Amino acid sequence: MPIDPTEPYDDNNIFAKILRGEIPSKKVYEDDWAFAFEDINPQAEIHTLVIPKGRYVSWDDFSAEASDAEIGGFVRAVGEVARIRGLVEPGYRLLANIGAHGGQEVPHLHVHIFGGQPLGPMIWNKG
Ligand code: AMP
Repeated sequence: MPIDPTEPYDDNNIFAKILRGEIPSKKVYEDDWAFAFEDINPQAEIHTLVIPKGRYVSWDDFSAEASDAEIGGFVRAVGEVARIRGLVEPGYRLLANIGAHGGQEVPHLHVHIFGGQPLGPMIWNKG
């Protein structure tokens, strides 16, 4: 069920629980700004999620409300996770879903990192 990205942040969302250590995750990386873990239902050979530590529903409020330090720290963390996973030389894909048309299901900003194989066409088969 897609979420409404204009709703206030919900501290009971599943990624907030992962950040607080209340739900287990396969951690890949953590620093002051971000936490990265394996997606529970991978859509590629490598499918890692990176989330900011701050309370942001989506890319929309993160890009509007987060401090420069939070944004810089998060962007650097996404790049670091891709390097840790060995994805720079073969290449990889980043994705952030926002709201209903994006198909966002978890109301805490997350960037998907896909890799480990050729990833095919980017989006939307009109067929
Ligand atoms: P999105 O559709 O962009 O909101 O993606 C949500 C992603 O979170 C999906 O790829 C799910 O497989 C993933 N996911 C949901 N619950 C968990 C969990 N407990 N641990 C890891 N990944 C999860």
